[in-house]
Amino acid sequence: MKLTDPARTLKGVGAKNETYLDHMGIHTIRDLIFRFPRTYITYGPAVDLMEAEPDSVQAIQVMLKRSLSQIPGGRVPKLTVTIQSGNRTLQCLWFHMPYLKRSLHPGMTYVFYGKLREEKGKYLMDQPAVFEPEKYRELCRSIQPVYSLTEGVGNRLMVRLVRQVLDSVERFDDFLPEDILRSGSLWDLDRAIRQIHFPLSADHLRQARKRLAFDEFFLFALAIRRMKKSNEQTANHFPIFHFTDADRFIEELPFQLTGAQLRAWEEIREDLKGDRAMNRLIQGDVGSGKTVIAQLALLTAAREGYQGCLMAPTEVLARQHYRSFVRAFDAWDIRCVLLTGSMTAREKKEAYDMIENHRADIVIGTHALIQEKVRFDQLALVVTDEQHRFGVSQRESLATKGAAPHVLVMSATPIPRTLALILYGDLDISVIDEIPASRRPIKNCVVDTGYRPAAYRFIKKQVEMGRQAYVICPMVEKSELIDLENVADYTEKLRSVLPSAIRVEMLHGKMSGEEKRQIMEAFGRNEIQVLVSTTVIEVGIDVPNATVMVVENAERFGLAQLHQLRGRVGRGPEQSYCVFIQSKRSETARQRLDILNHSNDGFYIAGEDLKLRGPGDLFGLRQSGLLDFQVGDIYQDGDVLKQAGEWAAEYEDRLTDRLKAALDSYMSKEQASVVL
Ligand code: ADP
Ligand code: MG
Repeated sequence: MKLTDPARTLKGVGAKNETYLDHMGIHTIRDLIFRFPRTYITYGPAVDLMEAEPDSVQAIQVMLKRSLSQIPGGRVPKLTVTIQSGNRTLQCLWFHMPYLKRSLHPGMTYVFYGKLREEKGKYLMDQPAVFEPEKYRELCRSIQPVYSLTEGVGNRLMVRLVRQVLDSVERFDDFLPEDILRSGSLWDLDRAIRQIHFPLSADHLRQARKRLAFDEFFLFALAIRRMKKSNEQTANHFPIFHFTDADRFIEELPFQLTGAQLRAWEEIREDLKGDRAMNRLIQGDVGSGKTVIAQLALLTAAREGYQGCLMAPTEVLARQHYRSFVRAFDAWDIRCVLLTGSMTAREKKEAYDMIENHRADIVIGTHALIQEKVRFDQLALVVTDEQHRFGVSQRESLATKGAAPHVLVMSATPIPRTLALILYGDLDISVIDEIPASRRPIKNCVVDTGYRPAAYRFIKKQVEMGRQAYVICPMVEKSELIDLENVADYTEKLRSVLPSAIRVEMLHGKMSGEEKRQIMEAFGRNEIQVLVSTTVIEVGIDVPNATVMVVENAERFGLAQLHQLRGRVGRGPEQSYCVFIQSKRSETARQRLDILNHSNDGFYIAGEDLKLRGPGDLFGLRQSGLLDFQVGDIYQDGDVLKQAGEWAAEYEDRLTDRLKAALDSYMSKEQASVVL
């Protein structure tokens, strides 16, 4: 078996599964094996029904007194059984599993595993997995991988395929030089790959993650260094010397720029005039006012006779920017054009024509579109907004579009400076570390689930005052495995709790782009008052009328991410509020959320979070979600990142053949995931 063999050569992959795997971006055996588990589950010990706790996933050991019985009627075959222990009864229900009747025998003991509910004094479990006690005890000793899945590919299939590969590949060759492995106490690649899929213990998993995180960071850092070199050789083909219109634009703004904004603008001006093309990152907390800086830069480029573009990571953001740019340049004879995936072919063609014939000065759109088909006329400046999920190759491909344009990257990701220097090592950095003084700080509180009724009353009151609210849940739908709030059920719940005049809608990543857009725009027009959403709204959305944010299962999110989320409120003149609902009572969770509670400063928060988290929450959902690494977390694995950065500096000029090959493959693969 070779890693480059197509996935279809595996047993169990037919034409149908091949298509499904294709959809997941798994084409080769290598793709499969480098698709690491999203999370892991451990099984807790089985308990008697009398000790089981409702509203959570439980393993209940029972003696089956009679066989399962069929529930008549309905199109779906249903089986049920009722079990008694002490004064408790548990009813289990299975759909679509007729064979279970034959395989479970009265008089035998089993473990039923699933989410336990309590309704009117009765306990219920739907579709529990059934194990023999001995098998279950074995499971308890293991850590089971949970993969990200798409339709058609179940976790069982993934597990089987990965096992198959691990069993038949004798050894995964390492590409890291011996001295790095030794000095970093890193596991070799073979061991790391095997253990990341099927860890023997939490400690094994930690070691495997460390090694693979190192790889990601190291290759990334090398790629960044390579880009820095090429940047340094790029001449300024689009010098800009005239700034009087920019000065006038600043004067006519309805507000005064902050000192930090002015400094950033000054640095950009120097770049634009200079000998080399600009490659600059503007790092500024949410709400620090980065957009206006982009407007100034794009305005000057346009006045000099060039074109510029602004790339947003999502359709919704692109449209929002487009509207605000059209408003800002209303009196300036600057022509803006929008370009996004949901536009009709005709609209797109019209946009392409306008760009090619230079009837547009500023193009605003989503990343992918702007890169692919557009023929610019003198593209002098590329601005990318909220570049959380950037890709190296993406930046590189832009630089090759005609003569290298000036590049301005705007990011709200709060990263400690030492790490920013590695992650953005190819860019010069301007920091906007000042929030406009006119803004009222958000009022925060951290509460437990008992506070919910009060939170709903508060939402109602704010909506009656004309405001709007966000509610954030970690999951899209109910999950058997993970007991967290989900958008679908929560939306229903809020609809029943709140007066019917208040429109409650949901937003999540499984919706189509068009659906998401319609919901966001309706929310923007206040036709929807309460939006229940996953973290898809994390990035850059600007609805100043929204003043309340409620975050459920707040302990599940990274602090930096919560801070980003919170940045969706507090954008208008009204007082805003953020309610973090903590569903697990734990001291560390409390401490972490307290950091948010007492500070609205993203840089401070990221730093404190880093201190508190240490080795981090191994089994949790991914914490940061900000920079797109598969294993590594820039906060949690900050020390590994630092190490990787240092080794990259050491090795950049003396790459071994193996390293060179790994880097080339990384740079050709590494692509931005710009989808929500
Ligand atoms: P972000 O940095 O998060 O992208 P925006 O650029 O969207 O922030 O700015 C947030 C809001 O603050 C916008 O409505 C913008 O007009 C406003 N704003 C920007 N700069 C200032 C300033 N110096 N004083 C007051 N308001 C400002
Ligand atoms: Mg922004």
